[in-house]
Amino acid sequence: MIRFNLPHTTNNELKYIEQAIKLGRLSGNQYFTKECQSFFEKRYDFNKALLTTSCTDALEMSGLLASIEPGDEVIIPSFTFVSTANAFLLRGATIKFADSSQDTPNIAPGEIKKLINSRTKAIVVMHYAGVACAMDQITALAKEHNLFLIEDAAQAIDSYYNDKPLGSFGHFSSFSFHETKNLISGEGGMLTINDEEYTKRAEIIWEKGTNRTAFFRGEVDKYEWADLGSSFLPSDIIAAFLFAQLEQLDDIQQKRVAIWEYYYEQLKPLGDKNDIGLPYVPEYATNNGHLFYITCKTKSERDQLMQYLQNNGVKAIFHYLPLHLSDFFQENYNQNYYLPNAEKYSNTILRLPLFYDLKKEEQNYIVDKIFQFYRR
Ligand SMILES: *Cc1c(COP(=O)(O)O)cnc(C)c1O
Repeated sequence: MIRFNLPHTTNNELKYIEQAIKLGRLSGNQYFTKECQSFFEKRYDFNKALLTTSCTDALEMSGLLASIEPGDEVIIPSFTFVSTANAFLLRGATIKFADSSQDTPNIAPGEIKKLINSRTKAIVVMHYAGVACAMDQITALAKEHNLFLIEDAAQAIDSYYNDKPLGSFGHFSSFSFHETKNLISGEGGMLTINDEEYTKRAEIIWEKGTNRTAFFRGEVDKYEWADLGSSFLPSDIIAAFLFAQLEQLDDIQQKRVAIWEYYYEQLKPLGDKNDIGLPYVPEYATNNGHLFYITCKTKSERDQLMQYLQNNGVKAIFHYLPLHLSDFFQENYNQNYYLPNAEKYSNTILRLPLFYDLKKEEQNYIVDKIFQFYRR
């Protein structure tokens, strides 16, 4: 069986974990945490980066930082992972779902615009497959209406909109280091705070609502309860694991992008014949090799292809079920939507195995099976 994902490690994870143990400080905000954070701040020019235990946690921090309250409306894509919505529902927000674009699964700026009103407090975007949303238009909308802009950049590490790194547009942005992402620490994530004004408060929320971070820097003489917060910071053991990955970031990225491009080239004949759809990367966006998907013409064709691959020992998967169609949302929130593009992508996307250690022979085999399916 060719697995869908196999977490890649670099050899130095255990070495750094051992080093963390020897340093004798295993809680959060220790040596490796600081090393990882400053790596990201320098490389991508983020104003401030804070490691978190997951991207989900980073999104929840965004909800707190934006002071979302009951009555506030938050616009999010329907075609995304549940955490994008939960983070704001947990604060009592009313969620408003926007449809995907026609040519990418990303949120459509025109659909955001239609949903903005006097109750709107924030726009949340998710860069699907690490491909940038239309950030010029979306940033302009947020500015014009004085809204928080929040990026779910879970899939978007090392990816750009023109020359600007994803995760540097939003007031707050969230990344994931879950084992299925490009850089991993098992579970893990990061919040970036790009508006200086919110840095201090972010550190407090991160440290259970205390000003311990400022205390450790010697800025205050005792630490105390200062705000709402929770335990959002990971152990330094997790950060030590992640640091090993960061040292290999360029290698990991090159490898993943090469695998992505090989799929694209090999499958292009099927795309040219319109048997399948291939991913579209707009002029302004980069491809960070996070995930490779094809689109089929119908849901039943997609499901048959997925089964065919499964029968031939290849694990391919689909996602996301549009959030507006979930039983949970429909049963609890009295809102009706017709979001044809989100539904189209949900019905037709098939993700192929893509991981660092995927072999060329395996990729050739997967491609062959897809050709066979369409030749039948
Ligand atoms: C992976 C992912 C998440 C969740 O990340 P965790 O680190 O597992 O919490 C959230 N949003 C999107 C779009 C994702 O792909």
